[in-house]
Amino acid sequence: MKKQIELSYSFDALEPVIDTLTMETHYGKHHKAYTDNLNATIDATPEIQGKCVKSLLRNLELVPESARASIRNNGGGFLNHNLYFDTISPNPVKTPSGELAEKINSTFGSLEELKAKLIDASLKQFGSGWAWLAVNEETGELKVLQTANQDTTYALGYAPILGIDVWEHAYYLKYKNLRKSYVEAFLEIIDWEKVNKYYTKAINKNDSCH
Ligand code: MN
Repeated sequence: MKKQIELSYSFDALEPVIDTLTMETHYGKHHKAYTDNLNATIDATPEIQGKCVKSLLRNLELVPESARASIRNNGGGFLNHNLYFDTISPNPVKTPSGELAEKINSTFGSLEELKAKLIDASLKQFGSGWAWLAVNEETGELKVLQTANQDTTYALGYAPILGIDVWEHAYYLKYKNLRKSYVEAFLEIIDWEKVNKYYTKAINKNDSCH
């Protein structure tokens, strides 16, 4: 049984960046629905039982056809939101440190330049989807990526370490059509210590099985 990540903060803790009703709906309805639907698909599909969702997403063509669309959409939605909710905080560490900080500087020039690239990717993603900071699972290279809907970076050979949800359900109640305002505010509640944790797992290839 796959479980939503537990929040380390209350629904109102991210105000004013993310409003309470958006948090309640996003975590309690959208993320819950992806998780429930994923579990129903796994229950109905013996061939994929006991497997990590990220392994299934890396090789979707190996998933039985009856389950493939659900694993792509609900498995993606399950994992994408686990990362999203885990890497934001009411008391975020505002800058990366150590190896990740060095890698960001050598790849993008500076944290500010990386943030500009993430904003750009968020705005260029037409319709629903995500912007990502992700690590190449072979080379350790950092890259800013976009995916549509609940597609994951695992399918592209990258482990995500930071995700910006640009589905309207993530921001519309407060920001309406102003996606850029949401993304700019969102970048200020990212806990870079958490991002660093995911980076370390990704480059050491010891990420846990979900
Ligand atoms: Mn979402």
